[in-house]
Amino acid sequence: MPYCTDFTRVFRGQPPVVLFPSSTAQVSQILGYCHQQHLAVVPQGGNTGVVGGGISVFDEIVLSLSRFNQIRTFDPISGALVCDAGCILQSLDTFLAPHQRCMPLDLGAKGTCQIGGNVATHAGGIHFIKFGPLRGSILGLEVVLADGRIVNALSTAQKDNTGYNVSQWFVGSEGTLGVITGVAVQTYPQAQHKSVAMVAINQVDQLRSVLGLTQQQLLTTQSAFPPRTLPFAQPHPYYVLIEAEGADETVAQECDNLWAYRELIPSLLATKMTLAYDLTLPLDQFYSIVEILRQRLQECGLYVGPNDHQSPVELVAGFGHFGDGNVHLLISIRCAEQQVLECIEPFIYDWTKHGIGQAKSQYLTRARSPAVVALMKQMKQMLDPTGIMNPYKLLPACQRRTAGSASEEAFIGGVM
Ligand SMILES: Cc1cc2nc3c(=O)[nH]c(=O)nc-3n(C[C@H](O)[C@H](O)[C@H](O)COP(=O)(O)OP(=O)(O)OC[C@H]3O[C@@H](n4cnc5c(N)ncnc54)[C@H](O)[C@@H]3O)c2cc1C
Repeated sequence: MPYCTDFTRVFRGQPPVVLFPSSTAQVSQILGYCHQQHLAVVPQGGNTGVVGGGISVFDEIVLSLSRFNQIRTFDPISGALVCDAGCILQSLDTFLAPHQRCMPLDLGAKGTCQIGGNVATHAGGIHFIKFGPLRGSILGLEVVLADGRIVNALSTAQKDNTGYNVSQWFVGSEGTLGVITGVAVQTYPQAQHKSVAMVAINQVDQLRSVLGLTQQQLLTTQSAFPPRTLPFAQPHPYYVLIEAEGADETVAQECDNLWAYRELIPSLLATKMTLAYDLTLPLDQFYSIVEILRQRLQECGLYVGPNDHQSPVELVAGFGHFGDGNVHLLISIRCAEQQVLECIEPFIYDWTKHGIGQAKSQYLTRARSPAVVALMKQMKQMLDPTGIMNPYKLLPACQRRTAGSASEEAFIGGVM
């Protein structure tokens, strides 16, 4: 059942019902009813998240945005695009292509993930160096609050100095503050020509020199990944893929072929049971977490190496975007999931600052100061007083309140 589990197959929920609203008014009606009845709701986009954020933990209703997917307006001069939150990222790029424009982000899951999910997770990806974080390209949002109120903060202006930027509260909120229903986003001129180069290196610290050189040359994208069958006479331990724009025209097919090596990795791992961690690390520590994790799993007797076919852990791999320091750490397992998890967590959360979901909510305090976590809880309390929006996610031990109870009363889970 695609709405009950994610692609890693690690998270599984048992929602009593999956709802498919196709308008803001329908989302508002659903949330208004759920608020009154104290029914918990999990917003779900393309379900490509890697921390279980879009999956029910217990009996929460899944609210899928997949049928809410129309383009509302597009201004070809300013590049401002306003669309429903359920639009698939790739379909937006397809819409923009005849206008020689592109979306500010691009990621491996672009054929499935939705712009609302991208905003809710503050996704990064391979355009990070060129366009900066997604937050900077969000012009405004339309959201439905937990009690069904519609907040229209859609704007197509680049500059807005009229008080608090309410839309930004929902960027990275992972569905815990309300449902994003509309997105106004700045699009950018598409590169006329692009070139792709693959660089083989022997040591991870050479990545930093590659980044320095590419920034001087105004290149746009760096992606680092481990080897498979690649176009080099000798195998190397690491490869870097670099995409440049504005260079002389090259053969598009060759560019696509080089990117295909990179995009092969997640699809290979999707066939296995995989623990996935998205980490943001300083550039001088990029990739070292992969080696540290391999060693730690070996010490725990759970991993031997690539040629072993018995141990619980089959593969520990890392690839990512060197430009924004984002490492995708993937650990495919054969069995003994609990033992493997105990060896990895909470150890790994001292390294991570990337997506919380249900996987990491109790470790938020490792990434954020107590004052920041307290303020986040106050915002949650203000916007979702009955705690129906995506409970058990992001904030440590969030609770729902039972119907008819004026006092705080734990329903499932701990006390906030
Ligand atoms: C192959 C692959 C590559 C990836 N590469 C990257 C990458 O480079 N960078 C990166 O950051 N991530 C990456 N990811 C992770 C994932 O694709 C992103 O987090 C993506 O933004 C999630 O979008 P989604 O629509 O699938 O959201 P979902 O997975 O459905 O949901 C994610 C979270 O957002 C909430 N949510 C979804 N839609 C809404 C909405 N309309 N309103 C409110 N809350 C909502 C959900 O409740 C959940 O908490 C990758 C994933 C895969 C499978």
